[in-house]
Amino acid sequence: MIRHILSLSKRNQSFGSTKNILDFSEFLERNVLSSAPKQISLATIRNTKEREHYSKCFDRTGKCQGCEKNKNWKKDESRLTIGEAIREAQRCLKCTDAPCQKGCSTSIDIKSFIYNIEKKNWYGAAKVILTDNPLGLSCGQLCPISELCARNCNVASSEKGAIKINKLQEFAVSMFKEMGVKQIRDPKLPKNDHIVFDSSIALIGAGAASLSCATFLGRLGYKNVTIFEKQQHAGGLVVSEIPMNRSPVDDINWEIEQVKQLGIKFVFGKELGKDFTIESLRKEGYECVFLGCGLNEPKKGLGHIYQQSHILNSKSFLPKVNKAVKQDKDVEATPKLSGHVIVLGIGDTALDCARSAYRCGAQRVSVIFRRGWQDIRANDEILIPSKNEGINFIPYEQPLKLIEVDGQYKQIELEQNLPVNNDAFNLKYQLTGDKVTMSFDYLITAFVFKLKEWLCLDKRFTPGQRLRLALCRWRCCWSGQFGGCSQ
Ligand code: SF4
Repeated sequence: MIRHILSLSKRNQSFGSTKNILDFSEFLERNVLSSAPKQISLATIRNTKEREHYSKCFDRTGKCQGCEKNKNWKKDESRLTIGEAIREAQRCLKCTDAPCQKGCSTSIDIKSFIYNIEKKNWYGAAKVILTDNPLGLSCGQLCPISELCARNCNVASSEKGAIKINKLQEFAVSMFKEMGVKQIRDPKLPKNDHIVFDSSIALIGAGAASLSCATFLGRLGYKNVTIFEKQQHAGGLVVSEIPMNRSPVDDINWEIEQVKQLGIKFVFGKELGKDFTIESLRKEGYECVFLGCGLNEPKKGLGHIYQQSHILNSKSFLPKVNKAVKQDKDVEATPKLSGHVIVLGIGDTALDCARSAYRCGAQRVSVIFRRGWQDIRANDEILIPSKNEGINFIPYEQPLKLIEVDGQYKQIELEQNLPVNNDAFNLKYQLTGDKVTMSFDYLITAFVFKLKEWLCLDKRFTPGQRLRLALCRWRCCWSGQFGGCSQ
Protein backbone atom coordinates (compact mmCIF):
# COMPACT_ATOMS: atom_id res chain seq x y z
CA MET A 1 0.00 0.00 0.00
CA ILE A 2 2.77 2.39 1.01
CA ARG A 3 4.70 1.58 -2.14
CA HIS A 4 1.52 2.23 -4.16
CA ILE A 5 1.20 5.70 -2.60
CA LEU A 6 4.84 6.38 -3.36
CA SER A 7 4.44 5.45 -7.01
CA LEU A 8 1.33 7.66 -7.24
CA SER A 9 3.09 10.65 -5.79
CA LYS A 10 6.09 10.11 -8.08
CA ARG A 11 3.73 9.92 -11.04
CA ASN A 12 2.18 13.25 -9.96
CA GLN A 13 5.64 14.81 -9.92
CA SER A 14 6.37 13.55 -13.42
CA PHE A 15 3.29 15.49 -14.67
CA GLY A 16 5.09 18.64 -13.69
CA SER A 17 3.16 19.82 -10.65
CA THR A 18 5.26 22.35 -8.80
CA LYS A 19 4.08 21.45 -5.30
CA ASN A 20 2.28 18.24 -4.48
CA ILE A 21 0.70 18.32 -1.05
CA LEU A 22 0.29 14.52 -1.09
CA ASP A 23 3.98 13.96 -1.55
CA PHE A 24 5.18 12.56 1.72
CA SER A 25 7.45 9.97 0.14
CA GLU A 26 10.52 11.44 1.72
CA PHE A 27 8.95 11.25 5.15
CA LEU A 28 7.91 7.63 4.59
CA GLU A 29 11.29 6.54 3.35
CA ARG A 30 13.10 8.20 6.20
CA ASN A 31 10.81 7.34 9.14
CA VAL A 32 8.69 4.37 8.29
CA LEU A 33 10.24 2.18 5.64
CA SER A 34 13.69 2.39 7.17
CA SER A 35 12.42 0.61 10.28
CA ALA A 36 10.27 -1.99 8.42
CA PRO A 37 11.67 -5.55 8.33
CA LYS A 38 13.33 -6.31 4.99
CA GLN A 39 12.36 -9.94 5.07
CA ILE A 40 10.33 -12.24 7.28
CA SER A 41 12.71 -14.34 9.26
CA LEU A 42 11.07 -15.39 12.53
CA ALA A 43 7.49 -16.10 13.62
CA THR A 44 6.27 -13.83 16.38
CA ILE A 45 6.56 -15.66 19.68
CA ARG A 46 4.20 -14.85 22.53
CA ASN A 47 3.89 -17.40 25.28
CA THR A 48 0.71 -18.40 27.12
CA LYS A 49 1.49 -16.24 30.14
CA GLU A 50 1.85 -13.15 27.99
CA ARG A 51 -1.39 -13.95 26.16
CA GLU A 52 -3.28 -14.51 29.40
CA HIS A 53 -2.16 -11.08 30.52
CA TYR A 54 -4.30 -9.61 27.74
CA SER A 55 -7.15 -12.09 28.09
CA LYS A 56 -9.98 -11.18 30.44
CA CYS A 57 -11.35 -14.73 30.56
CA PHE A 58 -8.26 -16.81 31.12
CA ASP A 59 -10.12 -18.81 33.73
CA ARG A 60 -11.32 -21.63 31.45
CA THR A 61 -10.32 -24.49 33.66
CA GLY A 62 -12.80 -23.84 36.44
CA LYS A 63 -10.01 -22.67 38.70
CA CYS A 64 -10.75 -19.33 40.25
CA GLN A 65 -7.71 -17.61 41.67
CA GLY A 66 -8.95 -14.32 42.90
CA CYS A 67 -10.54 -13.52 39.56
CA GLU A 68 -13.35 -11.06 39.23
CA LYS A 69 -16.26 -13.41 40.03
CA ASN A 70 -14.99 -13.82 43.57
CA LYS A 71 -17.37 -11.81 45.77
CA ASN A 72 -18.91 -10.31 42.65
CA TRP A 73 -22.65 -10.23 43.31
CA LYS A 74 -23.37 -7.76 40.55
CA LYS A 75 -26.37 -8.61 38.39
CA ASP A 76 -25.48 -10.94 35.50
CA GLU A 77 -27.08 -8.84 32.80
CA SER A 78 -27.86 -5.18 33.19
CA ARG A 79 -31.25 -3.74 32.32
CA LEU A 80 -31.87 -2.76 28.71
CA THR A 81 -31.31 0.88 27.89
CA ILE A 82 -34.18 2.88 26.40
CA GLY A 83 -32.67 2.57 22.91
CA GLU A 84 -32.10 -1.17 23.25
CA ALA A 85 -35.63 -1.70 24.53
CA ILE A 86 -37.22 0.24 21.67
CA ARG A 87 -35.12 -1.55 19.05
CA GLU A 88 -36.00 -4.93 20.55
CA ALA A 89 -39.69 -4.00 20.69
CA GLN A 90 -39.54 -2.98 17.02
CA ARG A 91 -38.35 -6.48 16.09
CA CYS A 92 -41.55 -7.99 17.50
CA LEU A 93 -44.10 -8.78 14.78
CA LYS A 94 -47.10 -8.28 17.13
CA CYS A 95 -48.42 -11.57 15.76
CA THR A 96 -52.18 -11.90 15.47
CA ASP A 97 -52.26 -15.28 17.11
CA ALA A 98 -49.28 -14.50 19.36
CA PRO A 99 -47.91 -17.91 20.34
CA CYS A 100 -45.66 -16.32 22.96
CA GLN A 101 -48.76 -15.55 25.04
CA LYS A 102 -49.84 -19.15 25.03
CA GLY A 103 -46.52 -20.08 26.56
CA CYS A 104 -46.72 -17.50 29.36
CA SER A 105 -47.63 -19.10 32.68
CA THR A 106 -49.18 -15.86 33.94
CA SER A 107 -51.08 -15.13 30.69
CA ILE A 108 -49.61 -11.66 30.21
CA ASP A 109 -50.70 -9.87 27.02
CA ILE A 110 -47.14 -9.90 25.70
CA LYS A 111 -47.56 -8.26 22.30
CA SER A 112 -49.58 -5.47 23.90
CA PHE A 113 -46.87 -4.54 26.42
CA ILE A 114 -44.20 -4.80 23.72
CA TYR A 115 -46.28 -2.46 21.52
CA ASN A 116 -46.44 0.03 24.40
CA ILE A 117 -42.66 -0.09 24.80
CA GLU A 118 -42.22 0.56 21.09
CA LYS A 119 -44.42 3.64 21.47
CA LYS A 120 -42.42 4.71 24.56
CA ASN A 121 -45.44 4.26 26.80
CA TRP A 122 -43.66 2.73 29.80
CA TYR A 123 -46.65 3.20 32.10
CA GLY A 124 -48.98 1.44 29.69
CA ALA A 125 -46.52 -1.43 29.24
CA ALA A 126 -46.14 -1.90 33.00
CA LYS A 127 -49.90 -1.73 33.49
CA VAL A 128 -50.42 -4.58 31.02
CA ILE A 129 -47.78 -6.68 32.81
CA LEU A 130 -48.81 -5.93 36.40
CA THR A 131 -52.48 -6.52 35.65
CA ASP A 132 -51.77 -10.20 35.17
CA ASN A 133 -48.62 -10.58 37.20
CA PRO A 134 -48.09 -8.45 40.34
CA LEU A 135 -44.50 -9.73 40.53
CA GLY A 136 -43.68 -8.71 36.96
CA LEU A 137 -40.27 -7.30 37.85
CA SER A 138 -38.97 -10.44 39.58
CA CYS A 139 -40.43 -12.59 36.83
CA GLY A 140 -38.72 -10.46 34.20
CA GLN A 141 -35.42 -11.30 35.90
CA LEU A 142 -36.06 -14.94 36.75
CA CYS A 143 -38.52 -16.40 34.24
CA PRO A 144 -37.16 -19.35 32.22
CA ILE A 145 -38.35 -17.83 28.95
CA SER A 146 -36.49 -20.37 26.84
CA GLU A 147 -39.04 -22.89 28.09
CA LEU A 148 -42.05 -20.57 28.08
CA CYS A 149 -42.92 -17.55 25.92
CA ALA A 150 -39.70 -17.23 23.90
CA ARG A 151 -39.78 -20.89 22.98
CA ASN A 152 -42.89 -20.20 20.87
CA CYS A 153 -41.79 -16.84 19.48
CA ASN A 154 -42.30 -16.52 15.71
CA VAL A 155 -38.94 -14.79 15.19
CA ALA A 156 -36.98 -17.39 17.17
CA SER A 157 -35.24 -18.60 14.03
CA SER A 158 -34.24 -15.11 12.86
CA GLU A 159 -30.64 -13.93 13.07
CA LYS A 160 -31.16 -12.19 16.41
CA GLY A 161 -33.26 -15.01 17.84
CA ALA A 162 -36.48 -14.84 19.85
CA ILE A 163 -37.62 -11.51 21.26
CA LYS A 164 -36.07 -10.91 24.68
CA ILE A 165 -39.48 -10.82 26.33
CA ASN A 166 -38.09 -11.12 29.85
CA LYS A 167 -35.68 -8.22 29.35
CA LEU A 168 -38.46 -6.06 27.91
CA GLN A 169 -40.69 -6.95 30.84
CA GLU A 170 -37.95 -6.10 33.33
CA PHE A 171 -37.34 -2.82 31.51
CA ALA A 172 -41.00 -1.77 31.49
CA VAL A 173 -41.64 -2.56 35.16
CA SER A 174 -38.41 -1.00 36.37
CA MET A 175 -39.25 2.20 34.46
CA PHE A 176 -42.62 2.11 36.23
CA LYS A 177 -40.82 1.56 39.55
CA GLU A 178 -38.83 4.73 38.95
CA MET A 179 -42.07 6.67 38.42
CA GLY A 180 -43.00 6.05 42.07
CA VAL A 181 -46.66 5.35 41.28
CA LYS A 182 -48.50 3.80 44.24
CA GLN A 183 -50.93 0.91 44.03
CA ILE A 184 -54.37 1.90 45.32
CA ARG A 185 -57.73 0.24 45.85
CA ASP A 186 -59.86 0.76 42.76
CA PRO A 187 -62.03 3.84 43.45
CA LYS A 188 -64.84 2.27 41.42
CA LEU A 189 -65.19 -0.57 43.92
CA PRO A 190 -68.25 -0.52 46.22
CA LYS A 191 -67.80 1.54 49.35
CA ASN A 192 -66.55 0.28 52.70
CA ASP A 193 -69.95 -0.85 53.94
CA HIS A 194 -69.97 -3.86 51.60
CA ILE A 195 -69.91 -6.80 54.00
CA VAL A 196 -67.99 -9.22 51.75
CA PHE A 197 -64.93 -7.00 51.82
CA ASP A 198 -64.72 -7.37 55.60
CA SER A 199 -64.08 -11.14 55.44
CA SER A 200 -60.90 -12.12 57.26
CA ILE A 201 -58.48 -13.98 55.03
CA ALA A 202 -55.20 -15.58 56.15
CA LEU A 203 -52.37 -16.27 53.73
CA ILE A 204 -49.62 -18.58 54.97
CA GLY A 205 -46.10 -17.81 53.76
CA ALA A 206 -45.00 -14.45 52.33
CA GLY A 207 -43.47 -15.81 49.14
CA ALA A 208 -44.47 -15.17 45.56
CA ALA A 209 -47.71 -17.21 45.76
CA SER A 210 -49.10 -15.31 48.76
CA LEU A 211 -47.88 -11.91 47.56
CA SER A 212 -49.62 -12.47 44.27
CA CYS A 213 -52.79 -13.81 45.90
CA ALA A 214 -52.85 -10.90 48.37
CA THR A 215 -52.52 -8.38 45.54
CA PHE A 216 -55.48 -9.79 43.66
CA LEU A 217 -57.55 -9.90 46.86
CA GLY A 218 -56.61 -6.30 47.61
CA ARG A 219 -57.49 -5.23 44.09
CA LEU A 220 -60.86 -6.98 44.39
CA GLY A 221 -61.52 -4.88 47.48
CA TYR A 222 -60.84 -7.22 50.43
CA LYS A 223 -59.61 -5.24 53.39
CA ASN A 224 -58.81 -7.85 56.03
CA VAL A 225 -56.04 -9.83 54.41
CA THR A 226 -53.15 -10.97 56.61
CA ILE A 227 -50.00 -12.79 55.54
CA PHE A 228 -48.31 -15.01 58.17
CA GLU A 229 -44.60 -15.67 57.62
CA LYS A 230 -42.21 -17.72 59.74
CA GLN A 231 -39.17 -15.64 58.71
CA GLN A 232 -38.66 -12.02 59.63
CA HIS A 233 -39.00 -10.87 56.03
CA ALA A 234 -41.36 -11.22 53.10
CA GLY A 235 -40.37 -12.28 49.59
CA GLY A 236 -39.91 -16.02 50.12
CA LEU A 237 -37.35 -17.73 47.92
CA VAL A 238 -36.58 -14.61 45.94
CA VAL A 239 -35.20 -12.98 49.07
CA SER A 240 -33.86 -16.00 50.93
CA GLU A 241 -32.49 -18.28 48.21
CA ILE A 242 -32.14 -16.69 44.79
CA PRO A 243 -28.76 -14.96 44.75
CA MET A 244 -28.23 -11.26 44.26
CA ASN A 245 -26.58 -11.75 40.85
CA ARG A 246 -29.92 -13.02 39.49
CA SER A 247 -32.38 -10.85 41.37
CA PRO A 248 -31.43 -7.62 43.16
CA VAL A 249 -33.07 -7.23 46.55
CA ASP A 250 -34.30 -3.67 45.94
CA ASP A 251 -36.60 -4.90 43.21
CA ILE A 252 -38.40 -7.53 45.31
CA ASN A 253 -38.60 -5.02 48.18
CA TRP A 254 -40.41 -2.63 45.84
CA GLU A 255 -42.84 -5.41 44.91
CA ILE A 256 -43.52 -6.13 48.60
CA GLU A 257 -44.10 -2.41 49.13
CA GLN A 258 -46.68 -2.43 46.34
CA VAL A 259 -48.55 -5.21 48.17
CA LYS A 260 -48.49 -3.24 51.43
CA GLN A 261 -49.93 -0.20 49.65
CA LEU A 262 -53.16 -2.16 49.19
CA GLY A 263 -53.52 -2.45 52.97
CA ILE A 264 -52.33 -6.06 53.26
CA LYS A 265 -51.05 -6.83 56.78
CA PHE A 266 -47.92 -8.91 57.50
CA VAL A 267 -47.26 -10.96 60.65
CA PHE A 268 -43.64 -12.14 60.82
CA GLY A 269 -42.09 -14.86 62.98
CA LYS A 270 -45.21 -17.06 63.05
CA GLU A 271 -45.01 -20.59 61.68
CA LEU A 272 -47.91 -22.83 60.73
CA GLY A 273 -47.95 -25.97 62.87
CA LYS A 274 -45.75 -24.36 65.53
CA ASP A 275 -47.18 -20.97 66.48
CA PHE A 276 -50.67 -21.48 65.08
CA THR A 277 -52.80 -24.04 63.23
CA ILE A 278 -55.54 -23.84 60.64
CA GLU A 279 -57.96 -24.61 63.46
CA SER A 280 -56.67 -21.76 65.62
CA LEU A 281 -56.98 -19.38 62.65
CA ARG A 282 -60.58 -20.47 62.23
CA LYS A 283 -61.26 -19.80 65.89
CA GLU A 284 -59.72 -16.35 65.50
CA GLY A 285 -62.32 -15.62 62.83
CA TYR A 286 -60.47 -16.22 59.57
CA GLU A 287 -62.96 -17.41 56.99
CA CYS A 288 -60.54 -18.38 54.27
CA VAL A 289 -56.95 -19.63 54.29
CA PHE A 290 -54.46 -19.67 51.43
CA LEU A 291 -51.53 -22.02 51.98
CA GLY A 292 -48.62 -20.70 49.95
CA CYS A 293 -45.81 -22.10 52.05
CA GLY A 294 -43.91 -23.90 49.32
CA LEU A 295 -41.70 -26.96 49.51
CA ASN A 296 -39.39 -26.91 52.52
CA GLU A 297 -38.97 -30.46 53.67
CA PRO A 298 -35.58 -32.08 52.76
CA LYS A 299 -35.40 -35.66 51.46
CA LYS A 300 -35.44 -38.30 54.13
CA GLY A 301 -32.43 -40.42 55.03
CA LEU A 302 -29.75 -37.76 54.58
CA GLY A 303 -30.08 -36.05 57.95
CA HIS A 304 -26.93 -37.59 59.43
CA ILE A 305 -24.54 -36.25 56.76
CA TYR A 306 -25.50 -32.63 57.41
CA GLN A 307 -24.18 -32.91 60.95
CA GLN A 308 -20.70 -32.28 59.53
CA SER A 309 -20.10 -28.58 59.03
CA HIS A 310 -18.59 -28.90 55.53
CA ILE A 311 -21.66 -30.72 54.21
CA LEU A 312 -24.55 -28.43 53.41
CA ASN A 313 -27.82 -28.50 51.57
CA SER A 314 -29.26 -25.74 49.44
CA LYS A 315 -31.76 -24.84 52.18
CA SER A 316 -28.96 -24.23 54.67
CA PHE A 317 -26.38 -22.69 52.30
CA LEU A 318 -28.32 -20.27 50.10
CA PRO A 319 -30.28 -18.57 52.93
CA LYS A 320 -26.97 -17.84 54.73
CA VAL A 321 -25.51 -16.39 51.55
CA ASN A 322 -28.57 -14.27 50.91
CA LYS A 323 -28.85 -13.12 54.51
CA ALA A 324 -25.38 -11.64 54.18
CA VAL A 325 -25.60 -10.30 50.63
CA LYS A 326 -29.25 -9.36 50.23
CA GLN A 327 -30.56 -8.60 53.68
CA ASP A 328 -27.51 -7.38 55.64
CA LYS A 329 -25.69 -6.09 52.52
CA ASP A 330 -22.39 -7.37 53.89
CA VAL A 331 -20.59 -9.56 51.32
CA GLU A 332 -17.86 -10.38 53.84
CA ALA A 333 -20.37 -12.20 56.04
CA THR A 334 -21.15 -14.97 53.53
CA PRO A 335 -20.20 -18.57 54.48
CA LYS A 336 -16.49 -19.12 53.84
CA LEU A 337 -15.75 -21.96 51.41
CA SER A 338 -12.44 -23.06 49.94
CA GLY A 339 -10.83 -25.71 47.76
CA HIS A 340 -12.98 -28.08 45.73
CA VAL A 341 -16.74 -27.79 46.21
CA ILE A 342 -19.02 -30.52 44.86
CA VAL A 343 -22.68 -29.72 44.20
CA LEU A 344 -25.06 -32.66 43.75
CA GLY A 345 -28.04 -31.98 41.46
CA ILE A 346 -28.64 -30.01 38.25
CA GLY A 347 -31.71 -27.88 38.89
CA ASP A 348 -31.70 -24.07 39.05
CA THR A 349 -31.08 -24.29 42.78
CA ALA A 350 -28.02 -26.50 42.26
CA LEU A 351 -26.57 -23.97 39.84
CA ASP A 352 -27.36 -21.11 42.24
CA CYS A 353 -25.40 -23.07 44.86
CA ALA A 354 -22.51 -23.67 42.45
CA ARG A 355 -22.24 -20.04 41.35
CA SER A 356 -22.56 -18.81 44.93
CA ALA A 357 -19.86 -21.27 46.03
CA TYR A 358 -17.38 -19.52 43.73
CA ARG A 359 -18.34 -16.19 45.20
CA CYS A 360 -17.85 -17.57 48.71
CA GLY A 361 -14.24 -18.55 48.02
CA ALA A 362 -14.24 -21.98 46.29
CA GLN A 363 -11.33 -22.54 43.91
CA ARG A 364 -13.04 -25.30 41.91
CA VAL A 365 -16.72 -26.19 41.69
CA SER A 366 -18.01 -29.46 40.24
CA VAL A 367 -21.69 -30.11 39.57
CA ILE A 368 -22.44 -33.84 39.51
CA PHE A 369 -25.69 -35.20 38.14
CA ARG A 370 -26.92 -38.65 37.25
CA ARG A 371 -28.62 -37.92 33.93
CA GLY A 372 -27.54 -36.54 30.56
CA TRP A 373 -27.74 -32.95 29.28
CA GLN A 374 -31.05 -33.60 27.52
CA ASP A 375 -32.71 -34.44 30.83
CA ILE A 376 -31.57 -31.65 33.10
CA ARG A 377 -33.98 -29.47 35.03
CA ALA A 378 -31.99 -26.23 34.86
CA ASN A 379 -33.03 -23.82 32.12
CA ASP A 380 -30.78 -21.97 29.69
CA GLU A 381 -31.11 -18.66 31.52
CA ILE A 382 -29.00 -19.99 34.38
CA LEU A 383 -27.15 -22.83 32.64
CA ILE A 384 -25.34 -20.60 30.13
CA PRO A 385 -23.88 -18.17 32.72
CA SER A 386 -22.89 -21.17 34.83
CA LYS A 387 -20.96 -22.68 31.94
CA ASN A 388 -19.27 -19.35 31.29
CA GLU A 389 -18.09 -19.20 34.88
CA GLY A 390 -16.02 -22.34 34.48
CA ILE A 391 -18.11 -24.74 36.54
CA ASN A 392 -17.00 -28.32 36.04
CA PHE A 393 -20.06 -30.36 34.94
CA ILE A 394 -19.98 -34.13 35.45
CA PRO A 395 -23.03 -35.87 33.92
CA TYR A 396 -24.07 -39.55 34.03
CA GLU A 397 -22.71 -40.16 37.53
CA GLN A 398 -24.87 -41.51 40.32
CA PRO A 399 -23.63 -40.69 43.85
CA LEU A 400 -23.37 -43.92 45.83
CA LYS A 401 -21.90 -43.09 49.21
CA LEU A 402 -19.70 -40.73 51.16
CA ILE A 403 -16.35 -42.06 52.35
CA GLU A 404 -14.83 -41.03 55.66
CA VAL A 405 -11.21 -39.88 55.85
CA ASP A 406 -9.90 -39.16 59.38
CA GLY A 407 -13.41 -39.16 60.77
CA GLN A 408 -14.82 -36.75 58.23
CA TYR A 409 -16.66 -37.34 54.96
CA LYS A 410 -14.08 -36.20 52.43
CA GLN A 411 -14.74 -38.34 49.38
CA ILE A 412 -17.73 -39.35 47.34
CA GLU A 413 -18.10 -42.59 45.42
CA LEU A 414 -19.86 -42.30 42.06
CA GLU A 415 -21.08 -44.90 39.62
CA GLN A 416 -21.57 -44.32 35.91
CA ASN A 417 -25.24 -44.20 34.92
CA LEU A 418 -25.80 -44.42 31.15
CA PRO A 419 -28.92 -44.40 28.96
CA VAL A 420 -29.70 -47.89 27.74
CA ASN A 421 -32.43 -47.36 25.15
CA ASN A 422 -32.88 -45.10 22.13
CA ASP A 423 -36.29 -43.65 22.90
CA ALA A 424 -35.55 -39.92 23.10
CA PHE A 425 -38.76 -39.24 25.00
CA ASN A 426 -38.40 -41.97 27.55
CA LEU A 427 -34.74 -42.52 28.28
CA LYS A 428 -33.93 -45.28 30.69
CA TYR A 429 -30.72 -45.21 32.63
CA GLN A 430 -28.74 -48.07 34.06
CA LEU A 431 -25.75 -48.23 36.37
CA THR A 432 -22.77 -49.70 34.52
CA GLY A 433 -20.67 -50.76 37.49
CA ASP A 434 -17.84 -48.31 36.65
CA LYS A 435 -17.03 -46.53 39.88
CA VAL A 436 -14.85 -43.51 40.67
CA THR A 437 -14.03 -41.72 43.88
CA MET A 438 -13.74 -37.96 44.05
CA SER A 439 -12.38 -35.83 46.90
CA PHE A 440 -13.99 -32.62 48.07
CA ASP A 441 -13.55 -29.92 50.65
CA TYR A 442 -17.22 -28.97 50.76
CA LEU A 443 -20.31 -30.78 49.55
CA ILE A 444 -23.64 -29.10 48.84
CA THR A 445 -26.72 -31.16 48.02
CA ALA A 446 -29.46 -29.54 45.96
CA PHE A 447 -32.08 -32.26 45.70
CA VAL A 448 -35.81 -31.81 45.33
CA PHE A 449 -37.58 -30.61 48.46
CA LYS A 450 -41.14 -31.55 49.25
CA LEU A 451 -44.19 -30.35 51.08
CA LYS A 452 -44.39 -31.08 54.79
CA GLU A 453 -45.85 -34.53 55.19
CA TRP A 454 -48.57 -33.56 57.60
CA LEU A 455 -49.83 -31.04 55.06
CA CYS A 456 -49.85 -33.60 52.21
CA LEU A 457 -51.89 -36.04 54.22
CA ASP A 458 -54.34 -33.47 55.39
CA LYS A 459 -57.75 -35.13 55.15
CA ARG A 460 -59.31 -33.06 57.87
CA PHE A 461 -60.81 -30.54 55.53
CA THR A 462 -63.88 -32.36 54.37
CA PRO A 463 -66.67 -30.87 52.22
CA GLY A 464 -69.12 -28.98 54.32
CA GLN A 465 -66.54 -27.47 56.64
CA ARG A 466 -66.84 -23.75 56.80
CA LEU A 467 -63.16 -23.23 56.19
CA ARG A 468 -62.52 -24.10 52.59
CA LEU A 469 -59.24 -25.26 51.10
CA ALA A 470 -58.22 -25.99 47.52
CA LEU A 471 -55.04 -26.60 45.58
CA CYS A 472 -53.41 -23.59 43.96
CA ARG A 473 -52.67 -23.63 40.23
CA TRP A 474 -49.17 -24.99 40.82
CA ARG A 475 -50.55 -27.80 43.00
CA CYS A 476 -47.98 -27.12 45.69
CA CYS A 477 -50.17 -25.14 48.03
CA TRP A 478 -53.82 -24.79 48.89
CA SER A 479 -56.10 -21.83 48.73
CA GLY A 480 -59.53 -21.03 49.99
CA GLN A 481 -62.45 -20.03 47.84
CA PHE A 482 -60.17 -17.99 45.61
CA GLY A 483 -58.14 -20.96 44.42
CA GLY A 484 -58.34 -23.06 41.28
CA CYS A 485 -61.07 -25.26 42.74
CA SER A 486 -63.34 -25.10 45.73
CA GLN A 487 -65.57 -27.51 47.55
S1 SF4 B 1 -44.45 -14.53 19.02
FE1 SF4 B 1 -42.58 -13.24 19.13
S2 SF4 B 1 -42.82 -11.85 17.42
FE2 SF4 B 1 -44.86 -12.72 17.79
S3 SF4 B 1 -45.88 -11.29 19.20
FE3 SF4 B 1 -44.85 -12.84 20.45
S4 SF4 B 1 -42.86 -11.92 20.94
FE4 SF4 B 1 -43.67 -10.79 19.19
